[in-house]
Amino acid sequence: MAEKEESKHWLGFDLGGTKMQVKVFDEHFQTLGKERRKTKANEGVSAGVKRIVETVRIALEEAGVSLAAIGGMGMGVPGPLNLEAGILELAPNLGWEKVPLRDLMEKELGIPVVIGNDVDMGLYGEYQFGAAQESRCALGIFPGTGIGGACIYEGQILRGKTASCFEIGHVQAIPNGPLCGCGKKGCLEAVASRLVTAAAAAAAACRGDAPHLMQKAGTDLTNIRSGALAESIAAGDVEIENIVRLAAGHMGRVVGSVINLLAPDTVVLGGGLIEAMPDLHAEEIRKGSLETVLSSFEGSYHVVTAALGDDAATMGAAAWAKQLLKGT
Ligand SMILES: [Zn+2]
Repeated sequence: MAEKEESKHWLGFDLGGTKMQVKVFDEHFQTLGKERRKTKANEGVSAGVKRIVETVRIALEEAGVSLAAIGGMGMGVPGPLNLEAGILELAPNLGWEKVPLRDLMEKELGIPVVIGNDVDMGLYGEYQFGAAQESRCALGIFPGTGIGGACIYEGQILRGKTASCFEIGHVQAIPNGPLCGCGKKGCLEAVASRLVTAAAAAAAACRGDAPHLMQKAGTDLTNIRSGALAESIAAGDVEIENIVRLAAGHMGRVVGSVINLLAPDTVVLGGGLIEAMPDLHAEEIRKGSLETVLSSFEGSYHVVTAALGDDAATMGAAAWAKQLLKGT
């Protein structure tokens, strides 16, 4: 049908815990329109869906593109998903549980919708358009409030039968270590996430070991964000640098173990913490990986920082939708 022939535009949606972002792309994945709004936690599913639909419509209007010209929409979504059924199982940040997001969006918009894990979508964006192009196997590690992971293997997102996988944040880093949010002990996330690093930094500031951080951000965890950590290190807070390097070292050792399993040629580091201190993280993660990787894999992988920033998930989601729906 003529209308199908014209379906050459794609939507990429990134549904985060604090903000949502959508982009309208042409067939070459150039941005035609975009919109970004706050995600209101706990406003309920129907209000949330309405907000998503409004955000999409605003971006389409800006782009001058009608829904009839859209081939489909990919959505990067946080939390465990049932990929087969298109259900968001649990998103504590949104206060959502068992939401049939794919069907709800298809009903509202009248276009095919594909949902995926937000970290998977971000790494797929880097694979298609950014730091991991041409990789046979790309591994992604994205430290933030937690630590997300993803793997693209020969152009496919590694996943389970129904659920997304690659929970690198819950690989054990320290046997019998600190309790993780997931209930297990010693997970990478429990020893190296930004939240854990910020807590250690706050303690150092309380002890009087981080004067610059104390002056700039104080000891309130919500103020000790990636930028504040980077500034404090640049200003000479050696103890904060030690804390951040220690966390990056933990990430590196886990990355090395994963390399032993999958032999990725590219390891992509992304997220706010990495963006704020790319060189420090690349150095420590490279070094840490060498402590655990088999010598035969040394030199077989590149550790690179993500190239697309905030756009990775929207671009990746749109490209993934295109691959699944059109097979290209
Ligand atoms: Zn865990």
